Amino acid sequence: MKSVILIAPPAAGKGTQSKLLCDLYNFEHISTGDLLRSELKKDSEIGKSIKEIMETGKLVNDEIIISLLINKLNFLVCNGYILDGFPRNLEQAIAYDKMLKNNGQSIDYVIHLVLSKEEAKKRIVGRISCPNCGSIYNDLIKDSNPLLTNFCDKCGTSLVKRDDDNEETFDVRFDTYVEETSPLINYYNNLGKLYEVDSSLGKMEIFNQITSIIGDQI
Ligand code: AMP
Repeated sequence: MKSVILIAPPAAGKGTQSKLLCDLYNFEHISTGDLLRSELKKDSEIGKSIKEIMETGKLVNDEIIISLLINKLNFLVCNGYILDGFPRNLEQAIAYDKMLKNNGQSIDYVIHLVLSKEEAKKRIVGRISCPNCGSIYNDLIKDSNPLLTNFCDKCGTSLVKRDDDNEETFDVRFDTYVEETSPLINYYNNLGKLYEVDSSLGKMEIFNQITSIIGDQI
């Protein structure tokens, strides 16, 4: 089973690219942010315990993340998967490596979507998504706005804004990314798995760059 990791600051397009890649390669999209949001929605014990931390934009405890991920991977039947938002720190990366090693697997590609803080902040303000199918749009980006203002192109559902997509939370999320997640760039580079893509481009240009890295040998 193939695995691709996307590492990027908030609003660099992880979710959008994951969806495009999953459609092309018939992969499963695993977003730890979505897994957590679903716990919040269910108002489960986990949901209650992570609400505050997610609202501030800091990282949820590694044990919770890893147990949600293991649970998801255990039930996966597919050619491969894209990890969107995991790992977020070195501890998670090491735990994930161990998990793969125990199953005789390894990471295939780590794609680093490079985006400046200024550009990421601009994108956060305009980001809206579909609560039904997860499609992501952006009011402020030319090729990313919905055809019909505020409605999903794919399923017609009214689009919503994520609670943590505001300027205050963005600063914490970006700083957390720089402090905790960006060390992973060196980590995966040293393992020879890292590929960089300029995420200031349009979404199809970014997609073409990623597919030229992954190729069609899937
Ligand atoms: P995302 O949807 O990836 O932007 O994640 C939204 C929020 O969920 C983050 O700001 C964190 O609070 C939390 N989160 C998502 N993935 C992780 C992870 N791998 N480790 C810790 N916290 C996470």
